[in-house]
Amino acid sequence: MFKNAINGLTTAWRGLTLTIKHLFTSNAKREIIPITDDNYFKQQQNTNTIQYPKQQLPVPEVGRYQLDVEIDDCIVCDLCAKICPVSCIDIESIKSTEGSIGETSDGSKKLLYAAKFDIDMAKCMYCGLCTIVCPTECIVMTNQYDRTVFELKDLNYEFSDMKPEDAAEKRRLLEQQQAEKQAAKLAALKAKEEGK
Ligand code: SF4
Ligand code: SF4
Repeated sequence: MFKNAINGLTTAWRGLTLTIKHLFTSNAKREIIPITDDNYFKQQQNTNTIQYPKQQLPVPEVGRYQLDVEIDDCIVCDLCAKICPVSCIDIESIKSTEGSIGETSDGSKKLLYAAKFDIDMAKCMYCGLCTIVCPTECIVMTNQYDRTVFELKDLNYEFSDMKPEDAAEKRRLLEQQQAEKQAAKLAALKAKEEGK
C-alpha cells in the first residue's frame, strides 16, 4: 500500500510539472520559419498552439494537399481516374465530332470534351498517383490544406466548365454521327452483297 501511494504521488507530480511547463511555454511567442530552417523542429518543442489562421505553419514544398485541375490543359485521357486506388475521380468524356477542339499549353491535341470531372476529396487518400500519371501535368497537389466544410458533399470538387446543355448537345451530335456511320456501313455492305 505504501509503495502504491509513493507511485501515485510520483505520477501526479510528473503530470503536474508537465502541465505547469506547458502553461508557461504555450505563452511563448514563436516566429513562423520555413521548414528548411535548422531551428524548425527545435521550435516545435516549446509551443502548444499557434493563433491560426493569423499564424500559419509553413508547409513543405513537396507536401500533398488539396488537388487542383487546370481543365484547359486536360486531354480527358482518364488515366488519373484509372490509377486512383479509391476511385474518387469521376470523369465523363465526350468524343468531339469535329476532330481536334484545341491544344493544351504543352501542345497536346484535345479530342475529347470533359462533360464531368469531379474529385471527391472526402475519399482521397492524398497518394499523389493521379498527378504522376497525368501526361499534361494539369492535375496537381497544391499547398492548400484548410478546406473545412459543413457538409461532406461539399468536398466533392467539380472541375468541368461545360454547361449541362452543351454536354447534352455534344452527346446528341456524337450519337447522330455514330448512327450515320453505322447506316453508311450497312448500306455499303448491302451494296456489296447485291453486287455479287
Ligand atoms: S491523390 Fe491518390 S487518392 Fe487522391 S485522387 Fe489522386 S490518385 Fe486518387
Ligand atoms: S490524367 Fe491528366 S489529362 Fe488525363 S484526364 Fe486526368 S487530369 Fe486530364
